[in-house]
Amino acid sequence: MWNIKEAYIDGNFVPVQGTEIIEIINPATEAVIGTATLANRDDAKLAIAAARRAQSGFGNTSKAERIEMLRQLQAAVLGSAERIRDSAIEEYGGVFARTQWVSQYVSQCFANAAQTLEDYPLSRTVGTAQVVMEPVGVAALIAPWNSVAGTVCSKLACAIAAGCASVIKPSELSPLQSRVIAEALHSAGLPGGIFNILLGRGHDVGDELSTHPDIARLSFTGSTATGKLIARAAVDSIKRVSLALTGKSASIVLDDADLATAIPLAINAAFNNSGQACIAGTRLLVPRARLDEVIGAVQAYAATLRVGDPRDPDSAIGPLASLAQYERVQHYIERGLVQGARLIVGGEGRPAGLEKGYFVRPTVFVDVSPQMDIAREEIFGPVLSIMTYDSEEQAIEIANGTVYGLHAYVLARDLERAGRIASRLEAGTVMINRINPELLAPFGGVKQSGIGREFGVLGLESFLEAKSIVSAQ
Ligand code: NAD
Repeated sequence: MWNIKEAYIDGNFVPVQGTEIIEIINPATEAVIGTATLANRDDAKLAIAAARRAQSGFGNTSKAERIEMLRQLQAAVLGSAERIRDSAIEEYGGVFARTQWVSQYVSQCFANAAQTLEDYPLSRTVGTAQVVMEPVGVAALIAPWNSVAGTVCSKLACAIAAGCASVIKPSELSPLQSRVIAEALHSAGLPGGIFNILLGRGHDVGDELSTHPDIARLSFTGSTATGKLIARAAVDSIKRVSLALTGKSASIVLDDADLATAIPLAINAAFNNSGQACIAGTRLLVPRARLDEVIGAVQAYAATLRVGDPRDPDSAIGPLASLAQYERVQHYIERGLVQGARLIVGGEGRPAGLEKGYFVRPTVFVDVSPQMDIAREEIFGPVLSIMTYDSEEQAIEIANGTVYGLHAYVLARDLERAGRIASRLEAGTVMINRINPELLAPFGGVKQSGIGREFGVLGLESFLEAKSIVSAQ
């Protein structure tokens, strides 16, 4: 049984002052596997003070020193890759292949940040000015439960590269993964206070981080609803805020697409991470004339996807992360049926043979209209809505007909045409015939999917502020 009751502050694991105790549940078995005591506002204040003390020294480190720190962090998380993977399987129900990938990806975040910093001019001459890129100051990094290690490490890598000390608040729903990642990062041996990690409720620890005057930069990943609260809370102290938020992404299959490759990609775009992915392609737009063919291909491919024990490398879809998630997905499947969509795969309830655990049936609807809830709202589970279009114009209109704009996918043989369509899609990233990300390219959303970009140069610059020094000749 896990018993987690410490925060990581100033380089040490210290008992939290908060008193709220929550259970940690394995979503595949519904067994209680431990407890965690949440930090409170006072703990957050201590963490912010530690980061602030560290900031003046850390902010003055050289590029070479920070690159060395990033290399140490890279090695440390790589050395803990198996524990990171296993904690995501045990607490979150992430399937083996994905958690294995994430456990490698996190070390890549530090390697990429080191490379980006290496190539980045922190000082340059502009006209008669010397422009120096300085760390913004202490950063708060707030993460969701559906991608704990990935979000924490990608944000931390940019903060370290820029020279910003940070306070990290993972989701209170991920205590085990947060503890494991904190231990891994601690093993890098960086000076205390440069990063601090604590778990707590959003309205408590999260709010303290969003309002505290010593936090200069706030990097948030989570829902649009919370992002709006944070942006409002942060405005009084004019924090530099970036928000990576909710998605409702479209995958457009063009009429020339080879369905044998396009449909598996589209389904994986929708069901990756058991559908609990901000970038999930949850609306599949297909030419009306090819609908029957698409239905056949979707049913055939979906039948090959095994739902089951996340530890089993053959499982493609694991349990959802919590009972709340299970109920949320059931609600949306019911809404789809009530509002007139037609099931072609899955449906309500658990898959046959899986009576325990928060497993849902991967579900695909057709006859979905843009007004239905399942077409408009983020479901955050393996539920795909197929919609038809009659022209390229209409496909673009449907794809853009959402308040969100995180990702889009185009599946086509004619790459030039796919590129033309990509240029008209309102999304931070458009993927053509692939679903694996480019980790050096900027990542983020347009419209209500967010503000700001992570990764690469733009990710680094989001933690830097330009100072212009202009002197008489
Ligand atoms: P959430 O918004 O409920 O919580 C995210 C984090 O914010 C948690 O750590 C939570 O404790 C904290 N929080 C909650 N209220 C707060 C407040 N008032 N002040 C400060 N912090 C507060 O989101 P979630 O349910 O954990 O995550 C799922 C959502 O995140 C989905 O909408 C998903 O699309 C989105 N997401 C987006 C991206 C992206 O890169 N765009 C990546 C992953 C997840």
